[in-house]
Amino acid sequence: MTESGFTFRVSVQALARFCCQRGDLNPATERSPTAREGQAGHQRLQAQRPPHYQREQAISLEFQGQLCRWTLAGRMDGLAQTAEETLVEEIKTTYCSAATLPPEQQTVHRAQARLYAAMLCQHQDLARVRVQLTYLKLDDDTTFAFDETESRDSLLALLGDCRQQYTRWLDAHCRHLQRRNPALERAGFPFASYRPGQRSLSVALYRALRDGHSGLYHAPTGLGKTLATLFPALKHLGAGTVRQIWYLTAKNSGHNSVRQALSRLNEGLPLRLLYLQARERQCAGCSPDPATPCPARQQYFDRLPAAREAFQLHHRFHEAELAALARKYRLCPHQLSRDLLPWVDLVVADYNYVFDPYSRLVDSSGHPRQIAVLLDEAHNLPERAREMFSEDLALARLTTLRRRVTDAPLKRRLGRLQRTLRAIISEPPAHLTEATVEQLGLTAQAVLDWFSGETWLLFPEELFEAIMGLWRFAQKAHQATTEDALITWEAPPRIELFCPDPAPHLDRVRAELHSCHYFSGSLLPSEFFQRSISRSPLPTQLVLPSPFPPRHQCTLVAPINTRYGQREQSVPRITGLLQALWRLRPGRYLMAAPSYHYLNAIVAPLVAAAELPLLLQPQTRDAAQRQAFLQALAQPAYLAGVIAGGLFAEGIDLEQVKLDGVIIIGTCQPPPSPQRALIHQHYDSDGQRGFDFAYRYPGLNKVIQTAGRLIRSEQDRGLVLLVDDRFCHSGHQALLPAHWQPQIVQNSQDLARCLKAFGRE
Ligand code: SF4
Repeated sequence: MTESGFTFRVSVQALARFCCQRGDLNPATERSPTAREGQAGHQRLQAQRPPHYQREQAISLEFQGQLCRWTLAGRMDGLAQTAEETLVEEIKTTYCSAATLPPEQQTVHRAQARLYAAMLCQHQDLARVRVQLTYLKLDDDTTFAFDETESRDSLLALLGDCRQQYTRWLDAHCRHLQRRNPALERAGFPFASYRPGQRSLSVALYRALRDGHSGLYHAPTGLGKTLATLFPALKHLGAGTVRQIWYLTAKNSGHNSVRQALSRLNEGLPLRLLYLQARERQCAGCSPDPATPCPARQQYFDRLPAAREAFQLHHRFHEAELAALARKYRLCPHQLSRDLLPWVDLVVADYNYVFDPYSRLVDSSGHPRQIAVLLDEAHNLPERAREMFSEDLALARLTTLRRRVTDAPLKRRLGRLQRTLRAIISEPPAHLTEATVEQLGLTAQAVLDWFSGETWLLFPEELFEAIMGLWRFAQKAHQATTEDALITWEAPPRIELFCPDPAPHLDRVRAELHSCHYFSGSLLPSEFFQRSISRSPLPTQLVLPSPFPPRHQCTLVAPINTRYGQREQSVPRITGLLQALWRLRPGRYLMAAPSYHYLNAIVAPLVAAAELPLLLQPQTRDAAQRQAFLQALAQPAYLAGVIAGGLFAEGIDLEQVKLDGVIIIGTCQPPPSPQRALIHQHYDSDGQRGFDFAYRYPGLNKVIQTAGRLIRSEQDRGLVLLVDDRFCHSGHQALLPAHWQPQIVQNSQDLARCLKAFGRE
């Protein structure tokens, strides 16, 4: 905001979309060339134009509303002026042909070209302009164009209409900001005092946001980190430091902590909020049936303006308001949330909406540099990011495609690609050759072109996935760096481009944003997370102690060898230890083991002895069974066996269930795999401790995460029992949280002594 009011910068493309998009919500518009392909296509076409043709000519106009000033700006792809005429050209790259290009898209593109021409008329006082909209079909480099000469009056009428619509819209948005900003500035911290560590986190994040710095914050469970991060971020939103906040969670269940934090702040706070979710989660009925296409898509853009007007009346806009708006105007709620995205204050979403190259939505808000990202449970980010920046292709997908395509040359092309990839699998090179990358790209483009001419709604899901899988793999092959590694499997044949180090990709995304703030109950070891998330040290780094007294947790180590080759021999000692513990201190115990096989071996003697009540994590994905397991955890006493690193070890909040102890068998290191070997090698060659980065550090973090289920509030007390001799080594112990202070128990007498001492605390 400036002295003269709020300021906005709007692209010509965004204005054309906002004011001129009409008709159906066409699913085909979801597939479009990548930015890099589009740019290369533009350059190819511009190079063919005559010498007096000027490329990428910047143009802008300023407008004044009642409460704001806004700049309409963009770059004309081409401008050619002679004594006889002025030509403005807008270039679009596409995979569609003239016949299959959705008319809704054409309308917006044409409006964009005409708006540029109108702006030029305004600047140069021209009587008429020739407006050319050229489509470059990327698969065969052919073009088709729409060309018309328009008078100044007709062009300025369009510009005037759009200016009026958008100024009215921005003024309405400013009225929301005028109400929101003072309310946020007035809002106080919702509790009389901060919890220990909570204020340090809040202050560090406040300062980092003020200075535009990113940060890494280790903030143990119980500190109230959602509120501690949201509160300073909302203060900066009110002060205008940032225009939007994105709160990212690793799982949908993380949305609940935001709901709770906001309800504590103030139910009536004038805040517009969107929870971005996958289509299936947002709308239970979303399985497009070709016989009855969803009516919420039909004439979607004709009804959208009225819904947007209604949205401006809501200064407090949450999930219920979105659902009501979608119902009232018969609009797809999933798309509506995307269309309202630039105009909300807080977005709650999964990581992939910011970082994944194929799901990114953060750019569509129109002002990424003014977006602050708060990323919760950040210990998940390195692995999630590796998945986002890696791609694999099973050859079975190509077989599916070959069976289905009706075009004979395309069938042959797919056959040739299969043969190339089989040869790579039998004799893997270090990297894909340029020829293979080109073959992948051309084949993917040919498949997409065939696909755009088909009635895709009739396609089975498997075929759709095969097409998108090939396209994504071809994209990844095109963009792969020397750091990406090629991995192949013979049975079933599969090929993967694996990203061992996601930091450069995360850095690139972060550089486009105002700042990113990564926090978690466990970001230890710090240097591991620092290097996994960013190549250069983040300016703000904070490691906070647990807010609870260290004496509330008794940490014991049973030095038993649980390495893979020794597991059978370890079972009697572990079972004896568990029986001794149960006799000394029965209660609610969560026990995490590295595999189902090992877990079953450990509990088998306990089942036979029928000495203690056992619960075992269900081995299926059946939601009812999972729920039943969770409900059973409310029982007064049990030993509940779960898999380390799995959903029940880390992904559940046991706030309502007070555990008496957490037992962790092994070091939770990930098992060896080709990917782990590449991570090891990559960080070794980068001067880091490769083995630790690939195995030891991720394992230790899982241990800390699993143990974190125990002490969740001031009243909780309990035992963490680490069953592995490696925890006796000082190297391992140095990486555990400082307040754990583990004691070694060699036998049941040691155990009894330690538990007795803990009981006296
Ligand atoms: S309204 Fe629901 S079913 Fe229809 S397109 Fe949107 S998400 Fe799918």
